[in-house]
Amino acid sequence: MDFRVLTIFPDFFESFVSHGIIRRAIEAGVIAVHPEDIREFAGGVHRITDDRPYGGGAGMVMKPEPLARAIAAAKEKSPGNRTILLSPQGRPFKQAIAGELALLNGLIFICGRYEGVDERVYKYIDDEISIGDFVLTGGEPAAMIIMDAVTRLIPGALGDEQSSQKESFEDHLLEHAHYTRPPVFEGEAVPEVLLSGNHGVIETWRLESSLVRTLLKRPDLLEEKILSSREKKALKQWCNTIERLVST
Ligand code: SAM
Repeated sequence: MDFRVLTIFPDFFESFVSHGIIRRAIEAGVIAVHPEDIREFAGGVHRITDDRPYGGGAGMVMKPEPLARAIAAAKEKSPGNRTILLSPQGRPFKQAIAGELALLNGLIFICGRYEGVDERVYKYIDDEISIGDFVLTGGEPAAMIIMDAVTRLIPGALGDEQSSQKESFEDHLLEHAHYTRPPVFEGEAVPEVLLSGNHGVIETWRLESSLVRTLLKRPDLLEEKILSSREKKALKQWCNTIERLVST
């Protein structure tokens, strides 16, 4: 997967590419991250990338010419990459979108700054993505979030191939609870079933944990899920327990 990031702050990405799974994925050739400085495509001695908005008002707007040239250069280097504008007005980023993007050959991210980009740049954009209903100062953190989430889903990026398969949001569920050593922490013991070595029983416990956590923390996810008969049974058992508890 080839990531090209158009930004006026390419140094932002130095730390991102130097640590953990992202660094290892780059070293293994699973991904490549190319920050490209939009200023290099701006004319004049000062390489200005922004200007005042027509119609007046506060803030500056990213000029179309440097952006259009930067996008064209990125497309030439990485033909076929999907061009994504990072914007609070885009479609909300979700795990399912990360999965969709992970199937592509590459992505070109456009990191806005100031009030955003000149409207006439939109004709060069394939997709517009928001990482949430809030406003950041720039698209760089959003690009990192998307690259991180997408990279985890590319085969070979994680050491253990299984580890991205049963994570939260897969099949509309949150992941089950986790425990590690010590077996007792501040008087609280690890559930006995996890020490049993019985994989069937452990798997059932994890499914129940996953269902209950989703029910308590993100019931909206369950609304979209088609429950298997096993999942229905597990949830019913919990509902019966809750009903018993509240009626006594
Ligand atoms: N004036 C814009 C508006 O109200 O819609 C906000 C511009 S914001 C200050 C500057 C840049 O940060 C945007 O062009 C975009 O690239 C990035 N950005 C801000 N919030 C974002 C979000 N929630 N998701 C993705 N990118 C965001």
